[in-house]
Amino acid sequence: MPITAGLDIGSRTTKIAVVESGQLVHSRVVDTGTDPLARARELLADLPGLGHGPAPVVATGYGRHLARERLGFPVITEIKAHALGASHLFPACRTVIDIGGQDSKVIRVEAGRQVNFEMNDRCAAGTGRFLEVMAVTLGYTVAEFGPAALAGSEPVSISSMCTVFAESEVISLIARGVDKHSIALGLHDSIVQRLVAMVGRVGVEPEAVLTGGVAQNECVRVLLERRLGLRLLVPEHPQLTGALGAALCAAT
Ligand code: ADP
Repeated sequence: MPITAGLDIGSRTTKIAVVESGQLVHSRVVDTGTDPLARARELLADLPGLGHGPAPVVATGYGRHLARERLGFPVITEIKAHALGASHLFPACRTVIDIGGQDSKVIRVEAGRQVNFEMNDRCAAGTGRFLEVMAVTLGYTVAEFGPAALAGSEPVSISSMCTVFAESEVISLIARGVDKHSIALGLHDSIVQRLVAMVGRVGVEPEAVLTGGVAQNECVRVLLERRLGLRLLVPEHPQLTGALGAALCAAT
């Protein structure tokens, strides 16, 4: 089987996954920043063990059209990439919940292919961006935010889901001396409620796989599992699922 690569140009991070015989042999994740093409070129320059000419590369993600126009790579949608990647890692996968930096999606899958999906890319609530802004407002890094929320005893209800208004609400709760952990738990709970509504519209069937950078947030996973009443499987590197799917597509 040839060595192939998947390039996932996301709104927050750009990922490369190199696959040989169905196995991930190399990967990198970098911030997309303001020059996605430069980041993509950096990742491509770094491909190891591809001495016999360039590896076939398939691109996906928010910036995939740039990869097609400027780098000449074939592209697939993020929906297809996540369906392929998640089904490769968990062959019994029937549902993928992908929460990235600027969008979230629920994908129903059969035999590795998407049969239905819904996507939210209009509103930051329910995406990694909302969590990033709220983490900073509460003085946490994104990696600290989920564990901090899980330490909260009672979720504080947050009435606004608009990022800007929710931020002011959080600032006034901090000023009133409300426990930060409970504010963090309330924020996680409100975005999870949004995600659950989207999951409900598409339907969920086990096995369900959680992908994207936000899958690394333990509190999001735990609250989703509680509200959906089912266990979510999380890949070892959830952020790489789309790049993995694109690399697998390049091999076919
Ligand atoms: P995209 O593909 O849209 O660029 P990603 O799938 O890379 O997005 O997800 C980016 C999001 O992942 C960030 O907005 C952030 O909320 C979240 N994230 C990244 N690293 C962590 C981490 N260590 N713990 C929790 N969340 C994280």
